[in-house]
Amino acid sequence: MYDVLIIGGGAAGYGCALTLASVENTQEWAKEKKYLMIDNGKSDILNASFFNLAGVQFGIGGDELYAKMQTQLKNFKSCETKNDTVTKLEKDGELFTVTTQNESYTAKVVVIATGMHKFEINCDLTNVITHTDVMKPGKVALDNNDNKISENLYVAGLASGAKTMFAIANGEGAKVACEIFKSWTGKSAVAHDTIKDKIV
Ligand SMILES: Cc1cc2nc3c(=O)[nH]c(=O)nc-3n(C[C@H](O)[C@H](O)[C@H](O)COP(=O)(O)OP(=O)(O)OC[C@H]3O[C@@H](n4cnc5c(N)ncnc54)[C@H](O)[C@@H]3O)c2cc1C
Repeated sequence: MYDVLIIGGGAAGYGCALTLASVENTQEWAKEKKYLMIDNGKSDILNASFFNLAGVQFGIGGDELYAKMQTQLKNFKSCETKNDTVTKLEKDGELFTVTTQNESYTAKVVVIATGMHKFEINCDLTNVITHTDVMKPGKVALDNNDNKISENLYVAGLASGAKTMFAIANGEGAKVACEIFKSWTGKSAVAHDTIKDKIV
């Protein structure tokens, strides 16, 4: 059983996973939480180079940036990752069942971060709509209200209809993570580390 299961590990999925996992040692309410991110390795990041992304090496290749994100997440024990394709998403009572090509998982909260190319998950909890803020036609998004689809079901990144920029997709992942914190704590919550926490 996972507290949060993220479907899709691109800019949005990593923004969500890193934000969730980063408070595992600093917040009492986060200490026992368990997260899983399932991704099938086709992020748009892998086809890009980045000259406009704040704080990273100018012109960094998407493959290199992606590898850095993978390494960064491994620092946190609360978040597992699986290389797999999600085929089905269902809800029975309070809990979600997420089925992949290889296994089945249960989760209390699900974040969909599958990008804009297609949505091939068998799921009657969401409505697939046209992504209208893209240059090429034929892209998809999921109907949502400020990244929320329904109780405990969120969408982040291009799958929400966001503009196709890394920072926007990544930021939506972080935003959804903070909304999940808020649902757990009952008040505004963010994931901040201070200069004293710097690793030298
Ligand atoms: C050629 C190119 C150049 C770009 N250049 C820039 C740039 O210079 N600056 C910039 O800011 N942005 C750039 N972008 C855009 C940026 O890469 C995207 O905005 C960003 O990657 C979107 O993040 P996302 O998480 O929404 O989707 P993605 O990063 O595409 O991630 C979605 C992930 O979900 C996975 N997934 C989908 N369905 C399933 C499923 N059923 N089961 C498991 N996993 C699934 C996919 O494999 C993928 O890994 C560029 C994009 C491209 C294609």
